[in-house]
Amino acid sequence: MKAPARVVVVVGAGAAGTAACYAAHAAGAAVVLFDGGPGATSLSTGAVDATPWEQRAAAAATLGVTLVAEPLPAEVEAFATALGCWQLVPAGGPPAWLATESGRLRSARGHDRALLSLAGLPRGARVVLPRVQRAEWDADALARALAADPAARELGLELDAADADLLRLHGEERIPAADLAARHDEPERLAFLGARLDRVVAAERRGGRRVDALLLGSWLGARQARAGELGERLGLSVGEVLATLGGAPGLRLEAARARLLGPRVDVVPARVRSVARADGELVVRTAPSSRAGDGAPTHAAAVVLATGGLAGGGIRYVPAEQDAPRGAPARARVPFELSLEAPVRLGVRGADLDITSSTLGPSLDEEGWPTSAAPSLLESVGLRAGAHLELAPGIFGAGDALADRPRTLLHAVATGLEAGRAAAAAAR
Ligand SMILES: Cc1cc2nc3c(=O)[nH]c(=O)nc-3n(C[C@H](O)[C@H](O)[C@H](O)COP(=O)(O)OP(=O)(O)OC[C@H]3O[C@@H](n4cnc5c(N)ncnc54)[C@H](O)[C@@H]3O)c2cc1C
Repeated sequence: MKAPARVVVVVGAGAAGTAACYAAHAAGAAVVLFDGGPGATSLSTGAVDATPWEQRAAAAATLGVTLVAEPLPAEVEAFATALGCWQLVPAGGPPAWLATESGRLRSARGHDRALLSLAGLPRGARVVLPRVQRAEWDADALARALAADPAARELGLELDAADADLLRLHGEERIPAADLAARHDEPERLAFLGARLDRVVAAERRGGRRVDALLLGSWLGARQARAGELGERLGLSVGEVLATLGGAPGLRLEAARARLLGPRVDVVPARVRSVARADGELVVRTAPSSRAGDGAPTHAAAVVLATGGLAGGGIRYVPAEQDAPRGAPARARVPFELSLEAPVRLGVRGADLDITSSTLGPSLDEEGWPTSAAPSLLESVGLRAGAHLELAPGIFGAGDALADRPRTLLHAVATGLEAGRAAAAAAR
């Protein structure tokens, strides 16, 4: 099919691809998104960072300064508002403080709206964790561990467990957390949860104990965050801890993406096999096994590769020894490849990837781990971009697919917006 001249194709439907679609559409392009399935964005735990949070926490500790939320480009803030599922904290103020299931608090630039930021509570607030019979939830141990965290002490918070009866149906103590979250999308079931939480609060107050906030597992909605509705009903702050990978925040993010892009973008559920130049335009072909694969190429004036890094499946680790029947491989080869064929370059640490003196791949024992001086090789390898994130004429890169960039959601959004806008301009 021959597409009209201003078509921008975006490959990859994570945070970067979503932002690229949004920006390209806003700049007047007709946008086709190839959604190749889940990636790093789908694994979201609910924390939303610009700079990796450990780096910021370590820098603040070294310098002996108070951690504050760094400024963000206005367009990133506007995108987060349009997406609707994230709450970013104001720049210059305290960061969000989120509770992990392992009993630590960590700072963040923002969070999924269902999560409870403990930084938003007044000093001296008492946070109650209802006891629920689920494998991931030991309210007593979690409350003790969180209360002992230096950040909780700094915030002056008290955390305690309390008896509760929040499960309703047979087997709910065993179903995945994301399934329990999905049940709370139903208004009637949410009302049940609200009534049961009311009882928890009433019992605590009868015993003379204050309740300022309720902290729960990652159970409050899969299509949309339901914490706000519960909080309004109960008249106090209610929210989740950070999820383990593959939980409700990833589902809520995917649902938010569908609501945002649905009216704006033509979404093709398929993996892309190649992007090639022919007769002055770009031709995008899908993989033969693709769900939508009718084999017909899509013609585009510009393309954004938002295909993710190693975690998202956009870059593959293919060391030479992978094919060696035994012993050493017969010849050297570059140990990383892109998930599709395109006239672009992979690189790391400011240089193109090439075959090193060894026929074996990189020494992952040395290079696979981040150090205080450099991030892991596996989190740095990616596409080499020039000005405006251009990889080759008319082809732009965004998000984790880019070499030597921070791997965070807000960085993926910032580069997605830039690449989408640049692609729309190139398509004119
Ligand atoms: C375990 C884990 C924990 C993380 N925790 C945090 C955190 O706490 N805070 C934070 O801010 N960030 C966190 N991140 C990083 C953050 O998730 C990523 O930086 C961000 O999601 C990257 O978005 P992206 O769109 O660039 O890539 P992805 O979300 O990986 O999206 C790329 C998409 O492209 C698709 N794709 C690849 N090849 C093709 C193809 N050939 N055709 C079609 N589609 C294709 C993939 O299927 C994927 O869906 C975490 C990442 C991981 C892996």
